[in-house]
Amino acid sequence: MRRLAGEEGTCFFCGEEEANVVSAPSDDNDGWRRDWLVCLVCGTSNPRRYRY
Ligand SMILES: [Zn+2]
Repeated sequence: MRRLAGEEGTCFFCGEEEANVVSAPSDDNDGWRRDWLVCLVCGTSNPRRYRY
């Protein structure tokens, strides 16, 4: 897990700045990278995926 800084680190749900941490990304064979965002303040977790 690592902390995110700046805009990415702001929780979408509670709005706390630099509250989000993200898991190590895993790369799938289909061209998407997946990781998992968790807010340390409100505990909301959110999967993300993006092209790499
Ligand atoms: Zn939050």
